[in-house]
Amino acid sequence: MIIRTLGEIAEMCGGSLVHNQDSNIEIQGVITDSRQIAPGCLFVPLTGERFDGHVFAAQALEQGAAGVLWERRHGQAPQGAVIEVDDTLIALQQMSQVYLRNVGCRVVGITGSNGKTTTKDMLYSLLSTTYNVHKTGGNFNNHIGLPLTILSMKPDTDIIVLEMGMSGRQEISTLSAIACPDVAVITNIGEAHLLQLGSREEIARAKVEIISGLKSGGLFIYNGDEPLIPRVLSEPNTVKPQSFQTFTFGLNDTNDNYPIGMMSHSRGTIFTTHQNPDQGLDLPLLGQHNVVNCLAALAVASHFGINEEGIRSGLANLNLTSMRIEQLTAPSGLTILNDAYNASPTSMKAAIDVLQGLKGYRNKIAVLGDMLELGPQEEEFHAGIGEYVASDKVDILCTFGMLSEKTSEAARAHRPDMKVSSFTDKKELIEYLIQHLGPKDIVLVKGSRGMKLEEVVDALTEAN
Ligand code: ATP
Ligand code: MG
Repeated sequence: MIIRTLGEIAEMCGGSLVHNQDSNIEIQGVITDSRQIAPGCLFVPLTGERFDGHVFAAQALEQGAAGVLWERRHGQAPQGAVIEVDDTLIALQQMSQVYLRNVGCRVVGITGSNGKTTTKDMLYSLLSTTYNVHKTGGNFNNHIGLPLTILSMKPDTDIIVLEMGMSGRQEISTLSAIACPDVAVITNIGEAHLLQLGSREEIARAKVEIISGLKSGGLFIYNGDEPLIPRVLSEPNTVKPQSFQTFTFGLNDTNDNYPIGMMSHSRGTIFTTHQNPDQGLDLPLLGQHNVVNCLAALAVASHFGINEEGIRSGLANLNLTSMRIEQLTAPSGLTILNDAYNASPTSMKAAIDVLQGLKGYRNKIAVLGDMLELGPQEEEFHAGIGEYVASDKVDILCTFGMLSEKTSEAARAHRPDMKVSSFTDKKELIEYLIQHLGPKDIVLVKGSRGMKLEEVVDALTEAN
């Protein structure tokens, strides 16, 4: 966590102290959420579409904040330890950038349509066997979350692993400019945010922006199964450092590293890699897509010199952010694959493949909610999932949401004898599941964040 004096903070963010304040006041930590105000912190009020943090600035000082930032255009600043700036968001970003340089750690940036958080968590585990590592907490991966992540890092950090998320162009480039990564990773290109970006090419361009801030001589690691990435890389308008190394990973044997001999078991996958065919790795995570994520993490880990022992123990001690193919057992004995965190066509198919690959269950049930923000082709994407799931992947399909009616329709059309039910009322869905699912069954629960399908998981884990 950043510890600086008020005067130093003012300098870092290009602001000026008002009210003749003592510039030696010590700031410990930076927050933007007024509910987290704690003695000693610096409160940064941000202006959003629906809220304006400036209304909490005076209260923050009363509650013991050691200082607040204040945008000049908001007029008279409250009494107390105030730093005036032109724009609090830019000040926050600038402060984080300077802090990152001061700490002098090495930086890994991870973007991609799916698998960012999973790869980040894996990499953290691998690197932590040898280094002091700091990583993005949860999903704090945007223009506010990334600076806050940096500012919460301890001064003795060796490597920081930053997740970089986006919903449009020029967002990853902003994050990359703040972080200037030594290593930039793209996990994959999917269809998430198609609504905002219009095409997969544009999604690829938005992700490849990560190399715009890559340090000269840095390393760019990307999923070589995706031809769009090298194509965008060679476009004349792509901003990139003068010199950098590349490394590709993926399932194809044309990549620098790819898995060989994958064997799944009930709780994960054992595999070896082209680069190290003698070391069997046991990844305690379901799904081939997670092996691909692991290859990305392994590439970064080996760049930082993590040895075989570190890799083995790092994988064994993985601690993942929840709701990513989390395997749970309900009191009834029902097995639940909780993947309710989010969904897009690519990740939906990956999760359905995981369900299909698991053995020893009576019925395999997929509970699939709407995939949001897919743009004009959203109905086609939902129908595509219906067809996919009906091609002998699962026994029972339950859909939830208006868009998912297309998933059910397509599944029925593709496999008329399949048990398919569609719901728009979550209570009815839960009642149906409780009535129809038994101890020997396994159910996958997945949908976009807005569908909040974890409520279904909670109901199933609470039901007897
Ligand atoms: P977000 O954009 O929401 O931050 P993310 O990129 O961080 O997502 P994760 O949280 O790691 O992604 O994973 C979300 C879901 O995406 C997982 O539950 C899984 O179903 C799917 N997923 C993860 N990795 C991949 C991959 N490499 N290919 C396809 N699907 C994947
Ligand atoms: Mg994430």
